[in-house]
Amino acid sequence: MSEPVDPSEQKMRFLFHLRSRGVTDPRVLDAMERIDRGVFVRGHFEDRAYDDTPLPIPCGQTISQPSVVGLMTQALAVGPRDKVLEVGTGSGYQAAILALLCRRVYTVDRHRRLVAEAEEMFRHFGLTNITAMVADGSRGLPEQAPFDRIIVTAAAEDPPGPLLAQLKIGGIMVVPVGQSDAVQTLIRVRRSETGYDYDELRQVRFVPLVEGLGQA
Ligand code: SAH
Repeated sequence: MSEPVDPSEQKMRFLFHLRSRGVTDPRVLDAMERIDRGVFVRGHFEDRAYDDTPLPIPCGQTISQPSVVGLMTQALAVGPRDKVLEVGTGSGYQAAILALLCRRVYTVDRHRRLVAEAEEMFRHFGLTNITAMVADGSRGLPEQAPFDRIIVTAAAEDPPGPLLAQLKIGGIMVVPVGQSDAVQTLIRVRRSETGYDYDELRQVRFVPLVEGLGQA
């Protein structure tokens, strides 16, 4: 049996590891220090909450790997006045981190249960600038568009057209693309006056973006 780990020591190691994986933006690190991942990981996998690995959540989904959450947040270059759309609420971890960095987060998931549980998390952290909704995020959120930033935390074969259309000029979208059961590529899309510029960030592995609403 290993010794129980002191929580502040554990947090220090967690942040140190994030830095070693390239999460260097002090605002992102600060947000990840304040939003404790341990609160989002309950039950069986509780003792692995600070490991740099995705973990199972209800509805057959996953809470993303912390270093990937950090790198995606950093790549999104969120500003304090931004309106952000997240597709794939999941546990609510990514949305909670974003909420500390921008003006308002709209987050959607196709599973009602996940949205309800994520809303409890937002209350726990006293976050009042997140609107969580049950919706098929592959269509975006037309009634709140356009967005300064869009983050997709499930893999699509291509960046969904409605999401590209709902990005402001000058806006940034981060989205994993590729076949769902293979390694995918995280891409960053910037919208300019004349079109879209794409750059590849790294290889990742996400659950698939599925059209339509879930059963629960
Ligand atoms: N960002 C999450 C991890 C998300 S896992 C976190 O921080 O924990 C991916 C999520 O995308 C799953 O919860 C899944 O239900 C959701 N999803 C998949 N396809 C979707 C779609 N078309 N619309 C909305 N959500 C979708």
